Amino acid sequence: MDGRRADALVAHLIRADGEEDLCFATWRPSTGRHRQTAIIMDPVLPEAGERHVHGNASYESGYALRAARVAAERCEGLVFMHAHPRGSGWQPLNEIDARAEASIANLARGLTGLPLVGMTLGGNDRSWSARAWDRGAGREIACTHCESVRVIGRHLHVTFNDTLRPRPVIQPSQQRTVHAWGDDVQASLARLRVLVAGAGSVGLHVVESLARAGVQHIAVMDFDRVEFVNLDRLSSATRLDALLRRPKVDLARRILGQAATAGYPLHELLETSVCEPAGLEALLDFDLVFSCVDRPWPRHVLNTVAYADLLPVIDGGLRLEAGSQGGMRNAYWRSHVVTAGRPCLACIGQYDPSDVQLERDGSLDDPVYIAGLPSNSPLRVNQNVSALSIAAASALLNQFLSLVVAPSGMGDPGPLRQRLATHKIDHLDVSCVDGCPYAASIGDGDKRLDPTAPHARADRMRASDSRRIKLLRSLLDSMDRAMLGGATGLARLVAPVR
Ligand SMILES: [Zn+2]
Ligand SMILES: [Zn+2]
Repeated sequence: MDGRRADALVAHLIRADGEEDLCFATWRPSTGRHRQTAIIMDPVLPEAGERHVHGNASYESGYALRAARVAAERCEGLVFMHAHPRGSGWQPLNEIDARAEASIANLARGLTGLPLVGMTLGGNDRSWSARAWDRGAGREIACTHCESVRVIGRHLHVTFNDTLRPRPVIQPSQQRTVHAWGDDVQASLARLRVLVAGAGSVGLHVVESLARAGVQHIAVMDFDRVEFVNLDRLSSATRLDALLRRPKVDLARRILGQAATAGYPLHELLETSVCEPAGLEALLDFDLVFSCVDRPWPRHVLNTVAYADLLPVIDGGLRLEAGSQGGMRNAYWRSHVVTAGRPCLACIGQYDPSDVQLERDGSLDDPVYIAGLPSNSPLRVNQNVSALSIAAASALLNQFLSLVVAPSGMGDPGPLRQRLATHKIDHLDVSCVDGCPYAASIGDGDKRLDPTAPHARADRMRASDSRRIKLLRSLLDSMDRAMLGGATGLARLVAPVR
């Protein structure tokens, strides 16, 4: 849920007199590949006489019926919430609460077509727990406990279900990291499911830092291949990789394998794009996304889910200006978190929505079209410098730490731009324009306008490997594993081009 709604719910549920309270709200589905998320929408607060506060709060059946009808009218599901004023952390479902929720679960599903979501608020630390009454029917109706509840306010506050997603054991290799922020922050950070979209010069540095910090579940998505022109900035890439046209996600695999400090790491390499239906579906399984892409279409997709699905996206980018008489005029790198309560990528100026169609119809891959663009068009610039990619990655990671670790309780700083020539950081005072469609789509979930389509360039790239090159890659990989004790062992033997 977004922080503004969470604040309103907490204000209602946590009473000054310390008594338990309750209310209803509505939810919308956001469906990933393996995960179903319920996006909490507006509360349906009790009217006079609809609920009673006396130790254990109770409500009149008319209130449940009214709230279920409101949800049905909005084509949303029903949520029942109550508080444990002195509770902390994930609240187990006791028998009384289970019976109370089961008693309205059939009604809720019957009227709305969606399972009832039950939620408990722990008053001590504003922790939420949740379950969906999605199994069985009638007297046999049963719930599935959720894995986590995410609230995106000034920072990302996640309550984890310690049974389904246990606190990871701190590893000796993580001591210095954990000393920086303590066990609890580490337990939250390590359990976030993080996707890095784009395994390029910025993305691969982000991947390494996340793995070293102990994040357990990291996925990397890219369909592109290593080329010789990438070797000046692509972390861990070798001449052999360029010769074999290795998928960039193979570099991510190598980096993750070497850098991971988590006890039970889960790494996923996805040779797809967020612009493809399967890519979007995979994206919705994650708690947070790093946008290390540089084209308008993937940015549009990420901007869409940042609001429609309340999925925080950490985006940034690098722009270099060559001097007209040679030399460098300046370099800029930007970083920002986009999701509810923050300006979107289109309004910040990170991409122009009218360019999305140019990418979808293939114009951006047409050399004739590109040659016709002005020399300073963001669609044709291709300068890049390794040191500055690292700076851009660092700016993204700083936003991540502000959002998740929230030093001194401060969240992410808003959009930042750093300038190399003067070494200044600008806070960009931007908000979404009136009528911004992204800001208006908060919580749309599965009702979002579908930003995906078949992706011709990704299809071509995946189909471009000859059988010989695939065979050679897998042969070298197995030799590498068997004989040289490391993914880069054999690569080091290949002499540099002189
Ligand atoms: Zn209770
Ligand atoms: Zn906007």
